[in-house]
Parts: sequence; structure tokens; C-alpha cells
Amino acid sequence: MSAIREVTAAEFDEVVRRSPVPVAVDFYSSECAPCEALAPKYEALHELYGQDVRFVKVFRQANRPLAEELGVRSSPTVLFFVQGAEVGHRLGGAIRRSELQRELDALIPAARVAAIAAQVRPFTTYCDVLVLGAGPAGLTTAIYTAQAKQKTVLVDVGLGGGNLAITHQVSNFPGFPQPQPGYQLADQMLQQAKNAGALPRLAAEVTRCNLAEHWVELDGVETVRAKRVVVATGSSPRVIGVEGEREFKGRGISYCATCDAKYYEGKHVVVIGGGNSAAEESLFIAKFASKITMVHQLEALTAHKAVQEQVLQHPKIQVLFRTEPRAFLARNGRTVDGVRLHDLERDTTYVLDTDGVFVFAGMSPNLELFPGVFELDPYGYIRADADMHTNVPGVWAVGDVVSKKFRQMTTAVGDGTIAAMAIAQEAGRDAPAAGPHAY
Ligand SMILES: Cc1cc2nc3c(=O)[nH]c(=O)nc-3n(C[C@H](O)[C@H](O)[C@H](O)COP(=O)(O)OP(=O)(O)OC[C@H]3O[C@@H](n4cnc5c(N)ncnc54)[C@H](O)[C@@H]3O)c2cc1C
Repeated sequence: MSAIREVTAAEFDEVVRRSPVPVAVDFYSSECAPCEALAPKYEALHELYGQDVRFVKVFRQANRPLAEELGVRSSPTVLFFVQGAEVGHRLGGAIRRSELQRELDALIPAARVAAIAAQVRPFTTYCDVLVLGAGPAGLTTAIYTAQAKQKTVLVDVGLGGGNLAITHQVSNFPGFPQPQPGYQLADQMLQQAKNAGALPRLAAEVTRCNLAEHWVELDGVETVRAKRVVVATGSSPRVIGVEGEREFKGRGISYCATCDAKYYEGKHVVVIGGGNSAAEESLFIAKFASKITMVHQLEALTAHKAVQEQVLQHPKIQVLFRTEPRAFLARNGRTVDGVRLHDLERDTTYVLDTDGVFVFAGMSPNLELFPGVFELDPYGYIRADADMHTNVPGVWAVGDVVSKKFRQMTTAVGDGTIAAMAIAQEAGRDAPAAGPHAY
């Protein structure tokens, strides 16, 4: 199979628009983490589909007018063409192998789809340490274990960085006197892990998993088997279970101000919650929105005193105390445009018009993949010992997914350090490996 062709704007009509076969076009950029995550998947699928679909790449920075003409605004963006016309769905961001495959399958006859599926050859990667989750805890673990010459595979369902990557400004990470954009710190940690020799598998789908046997299957094709596993899957914003919440998530309901506040320039936003996250993120959203209404069950905010004061004095922020959301409404049929609220003092219900809602109601551990595997605390977090080892032999847990009192970057980084050092110490006592399964 020939290499994937690099196409310039001058060649685009000839190679893409006048192609006799369907074409996949990857607009990529340099220094682009999601582009790097996509590259091995794009190449693997080129190997499989290359007889039926032409695969090309366009370097976006050098072909800006073409990207603009096609409405390509971010990298990577993958487009599909049949007989000169764009078809299917554009893919962007953390592109998964299965998403790409679905679009490619739609371009070719069913008989070829079946023939290609029959050619897929699953394979196994053996390693010393498998780290699940590339947030601050998993990245730190990987930096240490890779530096200790342990072959380390680092898996993330997203692009890595975890909650650090979506934190607008980090002002309390030691060594940085000025607040740092979270995505930049995350990027540097990932680079450091790669430099140490860790092998990332980003935007991966964990299709099967057996922690007791120390293996996961990724994207249905690669099984990673390890001597030792570190679970660093962190936590995600808690869903509050209010009517309309699941339905309108991403359509006017957001859990991430850094990601979505920019879409609310000059708009009215409702924020659900009264703790640190709700208060701090409201102050951030206030840089964009014209008005913020915080909705909080209790009669006082529970955020730190200093943040509370800033919120209560902010001219754009109003707080409705002793009030609960009962439903998120989309009377326009598209996106959230109202919240049904219940005033707990007066026992009355009314609708507040809004342009969008942010929910900050705490976090819950990402453990869906491992039901019944771990000993958990009453809140559902993994119990680990002083070395971060869990109840499962050869499996450690680090960071926000672990039962503890304080969840911060520094505590996550500390956990990763402890687990990695305990692993390196234990690995030093391993008998030398031999045979085909020598890791
Ligand atoms: C909005 C916000 C602001 C914050 N601000 C600060 C701050 O200013 N200072 C501070 O110290 N802390 C802050 N924190 C807390 C800090 O971000 C966390 O304590 C820290 O990120 C925890 O790191 P972690 O690696 O344990 O988990 P996470 O950061 O949650 O990372 C977990 C990673 O695991 C991946 N993952 C999930 N499930 C799987 C799976 N099944 N397989 C593989 N990968 C998986 C996720 O994609 C993610 O990348 C903030 C948190 C939030 C939400």
C-alpha cells in the first residue's frame, strides 16, 4: 500500500474533487495533540480501506484559503468526498477509530465492508505498566514508570490532560508564579511522559477489559496486557437527574465553563450549584455573559469565603437561595431556553427564561468500566492503601478516582508518584522474564 498522499490546495481539485473513488481528507496542523492521536488510526484504516477509498492529508497552516473555503476551522477535521461532493459527517477533535470506520463503511458497497472487516487482524501489546487515564495522576505515573525503564502504555478515552485540560487558569500548581492555562500544563505533562518513553493511546475506545487479568482491549483490535495496572480514570461532573438534563446535554446544558462560556457572549446564563466550582466558574462565565443567575438549594453559598464575596458583589451575578431546578425546558424545540424552578421557602414553582445552563453539582468517579471490581468507600471511590495499591493484586489506583479528602492536581500528582515508585520497587524484585510473553 502506498503512503498517504499529502495534497496542496493547487492539487485538491484533481486529487479529491475529480477522484473516481471516494476520498477521505484529513486537515491537520503541526503541534496539534488531537492530530497526533488521529495519525496512527488514519494510517491503520488506510491499510485496510486503501483499495476502495483514497486517503489524503492537507496541511492546514499551509493551505488556509482552501480550509476556509471548505469551512474547516479546527484541526484535525476529516471530510469525505464522493464524485466531488462532500458526503457523510465531518469528524473533528478526539476522533475515534470506530467513528472513522463508520464513515468509511458508508462510502463503499456492503460486500467490501464485510471483506475488509474479515481482514482486521487483532494484535497484542505486552508492557510492564498499563496506565488507564492520562490526567495529572496518570501522566505523573507514566512519567515516573517510563523513566524507571518500565515499558508503559498510557490509555485515555479522550485526548489526555483530564480535568486539568479544561481548567481555565491554574494558579496553585507549584513552580509557576503566574496562573497557567490548564491545557498548556496538561500538554507539557503529556510531552514529558512521551519524552520519557511512555506509549500513548489517546481517543481510544476501551472495548473490553479484565483488570484481574491485567488487560484491556482498545478499539476492538489491540489488546494491551501488562504486569501491573494503574487506574487513573478521575472523575466527571455529576449529573443531577433533573428532567430534560440528559436530553439537552450539549444543547444548552454544559458542565464545563472553560469549554462553553465563550458561546454565551452577552447572554443570560443559569448556573446550578453554590460550591467552589459553581462560584469560581460563575466568575469566569461573567467575562462573557451579560447576566448570571445562580440557583442554590441552601441559604448560603458553600464556596470559600473570598470567592463568595466576589460572587455576591459581582454586578452581573444574582443568587437565588433556597431554590431548586425541577426541569430544563426547550420551548423552541432546539436548545434550552428556560428552567422550571421551585422556591423552597414559598413552595412555588415558576419558569425562568435563559439562554443556557451550567451545572456544577460536584463530581463522581469514572468507574463504569470496572463494575464490582474494587472495594469502594460509601461515596463510590476506590479504596487504596498507602502505596495506592487496591484490593486487586497488581492493580493500583491514583488521583481523583481514589477515596480521599482533598482532590487537587497536587494530590493527584502525589498519588501518581507514590504508585509509580511502589511499582518500580516491586518490579526490581521480579524474576527475569523469558519466552514469547517476555514483556
Ligand atoms: C473545572 C475544574 C477546575 C479545577 N481547578 C483546579 C485548580 O485550579 N487547581 C487544582 O489543583 N485542581 C483543580 N481541579 C481539580 C483537578 O483538576 C483534579 O484534581 C485533577 O485533574 C485530578 O487528576 P486525575 O488524573 O486524577 O483525574 P482527571 O483529571 O479526571 O483525569 C482522568 C482521565 O482519565 C480519562 N478516563 C476516564 N475514564 C477512562 C477509561 N475508562 N479509560 C481510560 N481513560 C479514562 C479521562 O478522559 C481523563 O483524561 C479542578 C477541577 C475542575 C473540574
